[in-house]
Order: sequence, then structure tokens, then C-alpha cells
Amino acid sequence: MDRTGELKFDPGALSAAQRNGDACVVCHKKWPRPHVRVGCLPNGPGVFACADCAPALPRPREHFTEPTTNAGGPMALAGATAD
Ligand SMILES: [Zn+2]
Repeated sequence: MDRTGELKFDPGALSAAQRNGDACVVCHKKWPRPHVRVGCLPNGPGVFACADCAPALPRPREHFTEPTTNAGGPMALAGATAD
């Protein structure tokens, strides 16, 4: 069903410029023209953000696997300074 795996944006929440890819979907800035595709509308057209804003958006293609290693692990036992 979702063959692209992209974020779907609600066109009702976007301005006309944002729907046309002329404005950043985050900050509404039109210049420089946003060029990072961050998702699409349900009917197909891409939705864009500027380079500064794109990292703030969720990217469903990537796994949000936080590195949760060494959280209270055995490192604490060997951490004392042997002087
Ligand atoms: Zn922006």
C-alpha cells in the first residue's frame, strides 16, 4: 500500500506553496527553495524542506535504534582509578 515508505503529509495542513514544493514544509521559507524531499502528499507530489529543517522531521525509512549500550553495565565496576 505504502510503496515508497515516505512520510505522508496532510495537504489540508499545508499552504499552497508547500503543497507545490515551493516552500519548506517546516518553516515556510521559499528562498532558497527547499530541495530535500521529506515526504509526499497522499496523491503523489513530493513535499520538501530546506536542509536546515529536514533533519527535524521523522524519517520512517530509518530505524530509531538508540544506542542503549553501557547503561549501568559492568563498566562501572572497572571504572575506579587504580593508582
Ligand atoms: Zn525550512
